[in-house]
Amino acid sequence: MSDPVVTRFAPSPTGFLHIGGARTALFNWLYARGRGGRFLLRIEDTDRARSTPEATEAILDGLTWLGLDWDGDPVSQFARAPRHAEVAHALLAQGRAYKCFSTQDEIAAFREGARARGESTLFRSPWRDADPATHPDAPFVIRIKAPQTGETVIRDRVQGDVTFRNDQLDDMVLLRSDGTPVYMLAVVVDDHDMGVTHVIRGDDHLNNAARQMLIYDAMGWQAPVWAHIPLIHGPDGKKLSKRHGALGAQEYRAMGYPAPAMRNYLARLGWSHGDAEFFTDEEALEWFDLGGIGRGAARFDTKKLDHLSARHI
Ligand code: GLU
Repeated sequence: MSDPVVTRFAPSPTGFLHIGGARTALFNWLYARGRGGRFLLRIEDTDRARSTPEATEAILDGLTWLGLDWDGDPVSQFARAPRHAEVAHALLAQGRAYKCFSTQDEIAAFREGARARGESTLFRSPWRDADPATHPDAPFVIRIKAPQTGETVIRDRVQGDVTFRNDQLDDMVLLRSDGTPVYMLAVVVDDHDMGVTHVIRGDDHLNNAARQMLIYDAMGWQAPVWAHIPLIHGPDGKKLSKRHGALGAQEYRAMGYPAPAMRNYLARLGWSHGDAEFFTDEEALEWFDLGGIGRGAARFDTKKLDHLSARHI
């Protein structure tokens, strides 16, 4: 028997729960709940300047209104920084990462030189293969040793196989010189530690998946199943934004839309099951699968929501 499904919703608490986030949460919830799996919540609050407790509250509130219950307590990503640092140091100890002492000025000079010679400006650190005995007593970052040849393939359940050339991936920083983890490391460590089996999220994160894959590989961890869903567009075909009208889950609640209609409507934003437009929660839970997610951008159209609301009374 295959392992139980574990999905997660990982919002950054920098604002209310918008339609795109609500849809991502719903897809993860449907996928897990429809398979007897677990749906977890992680608050990605590492950006201290932009994260607020009010935003976290608003997101939890929006999910609760939508009936998207999560298992266990929400995980704070910021609180896990020591664990992220531990993994960076483990990679260092295994020779899969290295200390880089290059200063910002040196990196800028490297790029300038490469540009002048018409070469790739991807930073190649001189410390990658340096003997630790030659290390100065100076601040350093920890960089991953990314493969410089070959390809990294993301086998995505929505996008198909997406291939990245390794010579275009740099030795990304894992730990900054002040010891704080970068976001990319935090996501991988958290998803691994939380036992996440399926990562379903917006396709604006597809490029990140290639970099995250490097960390999974370096740690010898099993990567999750990826499913990157196309972003939502407005009725005019442009990326959904405030000018298309109300975007927060709470705003729809305030306007009196019933939560079941909202769930039905959100489920149809990018996912389909034959011609079904109207369906119950039971049907959505039974039918939802990754194969039904389309590759094209979904269109947000409140007329359809109005229509469904009239039926979900
Ligand atoms: N915190 C990210 C966001 O809000 C999500 C990252 C992820 O799902 O891996 O866009």
